[in-house]
This record gives sequence, structure tokens and C-alpha cells, in this order.
Amino acid sequence: MTTTVNAYAATAAWGADAPLSKTTIDRRDVGANDVSIDIKFAGICHSDLHTVSGEWGKVKYPMVPGHEIAGIVTEVGSDVTKYAVGDRVGVGCFVDSCRECEYCKAGEEQYCNNPGMIGTYNGVGRDGQPTQGGYSDSIVVDENYVLRIPDSIELDKAAPLLCAGITTYSPLHHWGAGPGKRVAVIGLGGLGHLGVKIAKAMGAEVAVLSQSLKKMEDGLRLGASEYYATSDPDTFKKLRGSFDLILNTVSANLDMADYLGLLKLDGTLVELGMPENPMPVPAGALIFGRKSLSGSLIGGIRETQEMLDFCAEHDVTPEIEVIEASYVNEAYQRMLASDVRYRFVIDNSTL
Ligand SMILES: [Zn+2]
Ligand SMILES: [Zn+2]
Repeated sequence: MTTTVNAYAATAAWGADAPLSKTTIDRRDVGANDVSIDIKFAGICHSDLHTVSGEWGKVKYPMVPGHEIAGIVTEVGSDVTKYAVGDRVGVGCFVDSCRECEYCKAGEEQYCNNPGMIGTYNGVGRDGQPTQGGYSDSIVVDENYVLRIPDSIELDKAAPLLCAGITTYSPLHHWGAGPGKRVAVIGLGGLGHLGVKIAKAMGAEVAVLSQSLKKMEDGLRLGASEYYATSDPDTFKKLRGSFDLILNTVSANLDMADYLGLLKLDGTLVELGMPENPMPVPAGALIFGRKSLSGSLIGGIRETQEMLDFCAEHDVTPEIEVIEASYVNEAYQRMLASDVRYRFVIDNSTL
């Protein structure tokens, strides 16, 4: 038995002649440990676009994207203990994992190696069915993979925290951003603008490294104390050896020697975006200054809850543009043109 709900799906590799279109999908019945969520808002993440376009590997069409989900619990299974009907909840990038490997046990389910987390969309659930994401009326998820949204965060603004928020919070937390630390954020987009806000809320000194100074006013308003254009070669001379931590939120290929040069002794540059091509790293850029180049992938369930509570406490929310579901293809086009400040969020009541 299943429930049929409205959704927007990709039916082929997304593009001008293959837009997302309105359809219906089936949701499984609520099992003993499941909650059913009436989705109120779904954020649009760059990963949605990469995935529906087929850039990140095989896609099983029709496929409903969306892994920044905020809504209200409408039904709970007989063994559910954490949530009740009416609760404000969220779902992020994954809806299950093996629950047995050392990383799942440590609450780092995103790094599950048995064989890996089950994505909120374009994955295969325990029932053998393809997982379908948040551009839909509702979703059924095991309670252990659901987050509680604090009362002070509006649901539309909560949605982007479930991916963009945790993607930036986790490395900032892991590498100890805080008072006395200088953090640089490369790129002021969906991820970057939240990186700036969260790093500032943690007490760090924040700089934005952007291609141009076009968004400087925004960057300073959002919490950065410095803003530099990376198109200006002087930036790299002036800032040499300046930062404890650099978050790279853009998926363009960078000159690693230039950027690693901006780190202090023992500094770390963390990759969050996924550039299409490998980037050469000269070993000298790491050796001189004992520097690290790393990467980070979203966060586990426990840390995602911690992030939501942190954002509520420090009044950190994304800058969003709420759209109707039928606008999603235009939103994708605008995202490709970097024409969004700073996250599109679908109002799912328009499905
Ligand atoms: Zn995402
Ligand atoms: Zn696991």
C-alpha cells in the first residue's frame, strides 16, 4: 500500500528541452519507526541541479530532487518515540544508513562505509524502492533520520539549513572556528553566505574571497569584516599567511598554490564544492607551513541537530527567495547564472 502525492520530477537529464515537470509519486505507508511529514518548504541546492543533469553519475528517472526539507509531522508509526503529530521537523541529505559501521555508530552517518548513506533522492531505500526528494507534498522517513526544527526558525528559512547550513557548520566546528581564529570563505553563494553567518556567530573573524567586489555590501552585512576580490592578484600578496581556516564553497577549479599560500602555519583549506576536474596540488604549498588540504561532507544527524539549535540560539538564518513550484526550471537557470541571493526555497503548497 502506498500514498500518491504531487511532485516535480526530472524525467530525463535536465535541460532546456527536458525541464522538471509536474507528476505524482508514491510514498510508502508509515512503518513502525517512520514518521510521515507534510512538506511545507523545500530548498533548492546546487546538488539538485548537478544530479538531475546527470553530472554526478547515473540517475534513475523519473527522479524528484530536494534534500532541504521542512514540514510538519502528520503521522507516526507505533514504535516512534521522538516525534509526535504536529511537530516541526526537517530532513536533510540522507534518509538512512547501515546503522552498524563504526561511522554510523559514531553519529557520522554521512560517512557510512557499508556501503554508504542512502540519499534523500536518487538512492535506493531499505524497501528496494528509489528514494524521492522534497519537491513533493510529503515524505515518509525513519524517525532516526529526522531533525527537530526549533520554534524560533521559520520553516521556509529552516529548509536550507538542512544542507547548506550543516555543510558549512560541520567544518567550522570540526576545525575550531571561534574567537581569535581568522576564517576565509571562498564564494558568497548559497553555501558561502551561511558559512559567513555561522563563522561570525561562532566568534571568528571572517573574510570573504569572491571573484569580484559585486556582493561586498552583502558580505559585510552578513557578518564578514573583510571582503576581497580574487580577480585582483594583489589580494594573494596582501593576504599571504593570514588564515587559520579557509572554506572553499565554489566548485570551480582553483590555483591551489595561491590559496594554500593564504593559510597560516598549520592552517587548513577545506573543499566543500565538487569541481569537475582534479586540481594539481604542489607539495611545497603544504610542506612550507605544515598546511592541510581537506574536504568535508554535510554532517551526521546529531551534528545537524546541534547546528539547528545553534542557529536558533544565535539567530542565524539563510537569505532566501521563496518561489512557486512551477518556477523551478527558471530558478535552475538563474542558479546557473549565479542570480540568486542566496537560496531558492519552494513553497510546497503550490505543488
Ligand atoms: Zn545540498
Ligand atoms: Zn554505516
